[in-house]
Amino acid sequence: MPNVGELSLQLRLDGADRLSEAAGIADETASPCTACGACCAYSREWPRFTTESDEALDRIPSKFVAESLSGMRCEEDRCAALVGRIGVETSCAIYADRPDVCRACLPGDDACQMAREKYGLPLIYA
Ligand code: SF4
Ligand code: SF4
Repeated sequence: MPNVGELSLQLRLDGADRLSEAAGIADETASPCTACGACCAYSREWPRFTTESDEALDRIPSKFVAESLSGMRCEEDRCAALVGRIGVETSCAIYADRPDVCRACLPGDDACQMAREKYGLPLIYA
């Protein structure tokens, strides 16, 4: 079973850009993430801080940071920075400053599939 770091969230346009490149698509609107957000609401244990510098962490507004300072604040399993309706239209309120785990993965990997399955969304095959 992979640990939290290995399961690091796969988010948004980093992954989507690569997915689009692989498909030969330049248009970011092709991202599956903007109509998903499932991995931002899979587990309060997922959006944890790992390798960020102090400067990077300082850029995240404190209202989005957990009391323990170990990661993002969550409301139940949903990250407080997630905006919108899961499976419909979502975005990250701190996209430019999101934690490293949120940058690490790709749509279609194991974490993505687990998260999408939780919300009854069709799986993505990378
Ligand atoms: S679960 Fe997959 S498709 Fe959905 S936002 Fe995360 S990486 Fe993107
Ligand atoms: S910080 Fe942004 S990308 Fe990371 S889990 Fe929260 S909403 Fe998702």
